[in-house]
Amino acid sequence: MFAKILDGLKKLLFLRSLQARIFVIILVVGLVPSILMRYGILEKYEERSVEQRVATVQNQLMIIGNHLLSNNYFSSQAAEYSSTSRDVINAELEMISNLYEGRVMIINASLKVVKDTYGISEGKTIISEEVIMCFQGGSAWHYDKQHGYIEMTTPIIDTSAAAQDGKTNGRTVGVMLTSISNEAIVGTIETLNHNAVLLENLMLIAILAVAIILSIVLIRPFNRLTKAINEVKAGYSDASISVPDYAETIHIVDAFNQLLARMRALDESRQEFVANVSHELKTPMASIKVLADSLLAQPEAPAELYREFMEDIVSEIDRENRIITDLLALVKMDKKVQELNIASLNVNDLTELILKRLRPIARKKDVEVVFESMRPVVAEADEVKLTLIMTNLVENAIKYNKEHGWVRVELDADHQYFTFTVSDSGQGIPEESLSRIYERFYRIDKSHSKEIGGTGLGLAITKSAVLAHRGSITVTSVVDEGSSFEVKIPLIYSAGSSAGTQESRG
Ligand code: ADP
Repeated sequence: MFAKILDGLKKLLFLRSLQARIFVIILVVGLVPSILMRYGILEKYEERSVEQRVATVQNQLMIIGNHLLSNNYFSSQAAEYSSTSRDVINAELEMISNLYEGRVMIINASLKVVKDTYGISEGKTIISEEVIMCFQGGSAWHYDKQHGYIEMTTPIIDTSAAAQDGKTNGRTVGVMLTSISNEAIVGTIETLNHNAVLLENLMLIAILAVAIILSIVLIRPFNRLTKAINEVKAGYSDASISVPDYAETIHIVDAFNQLLARMRALDESRQEFVANVSHELKTPMASIKVLADSLLAQPEAPAELYREFMEDIVSEIDRENRIITDLLALVKMDKKVQELNIASLNVNDLTELILKRLRPIARKKDVEVVFESMRPVVAEADEVKLTLIMTNLVENAIKYNKEHGWVRVELDADHQYFTFTVSDSGQGIPEESLSRIYERFYRIDKSHSKEIGGTGLGLAITKSAVLAHRGSITVTSVVDEGSSFEVKIPLIYSAGSSAGTQESRG
């Protein structure tokens, strides 16, 4: 029930604002204690005042009671009782009833009213619980808040009778039944309440002002934050934002700036990639144009020249095709991991097949390719991507090799990963290039690489494919001696873990 109400309240847009919450909290925290204090203090004041009044009146009644006894007020013999003393006592009783706006009745042991300051009940018999209780147990009082009076019973105790009776406490010979008004107390309380309400209203105005000011001031850094983010979004500002007012805004700003830096880096790399792609695609086009133009410029060119130039044009078109194919492979690789077509593969068979396809190229360069399989390996992987990885590495090892060189392909596995190592006796990779060979379009020796037919995309594609399998690729290389690429891929594919990627030099 309570949760439902809270849910309903939460839906109100007003309460969703931090500003509104601060305002309400300050208002409640400021006002509730003062209201509670007012009620608490007034209640306590009333209780204390009634108690004090009862104590004062009872004291005076006790004195009168003693007077009554010493003047033999209850004595039946008229001689013992002088009319002057009766007048004095009556005057005292009148004075009390006037002073406290009340009524005093004196009741004797046979429950008969012998004196009533109102004069209406004299001679009547009163049988009330309070009076009887008073005869037995002493004084008592009771505050009737609703009707606005205090009623008390005060025993008149004859202590001289105690000596005769042998009792210690004396004998109750009569009871004074008094009721007094609480108007004076109520009046004071009303005045106090009035003053308190006045003060409360002043406080309310002050707290309202504080709540409004604080809710505006405390929220200001968040407004600044929104404004700064909006400026970045709208493109007015390119710089990092800064709102150092609160620890919270600093955290938000830090996270936002990091996001911004990442987006900028991504944007820069995208621009660089687009520039590289255009450049790479334009180069074969430019060659084709030069070749075609020079043919056109010679109307009488012999057929052999035409043939030679056409062959060059075809090779440039082949190159353009290779770049486009590699680019498409790379774009596919950048897509989501879920697009991997995972199946259980016999990696030994796959390696044999790839090497069979590549051997003719190796033969052309007189490079010997050997395959060493330590054990049969069956792994969960995407066949097309695994083929790309292996083909690229072996192709590079052949391409960047010396005449009469060798390429060694090793396949091994432990209980978790299988490793595919391609070592060659080639030209090697300089140390400063080791960390860059996976970049798109990066080639160590541009002209030589172009001659060989490289696009600079092969290792970028390889690395993406390895990472998609949650694997790692490492390279060790010594210039003029050879390189060794090691790929480590989990035998069982899981979308969560990664072996990491590192480059090193041996
Ligand atoms: P490419 O299509 O030019 O071969 P890659 O991305 O496959 O592009 O390789 C990037 C560069 O790294 C190559 O241009 C080459 O200079 C160097 N490289 C790659 N593999 C080898 C290797 N086995 N031995 C020596 N250099 C290599």
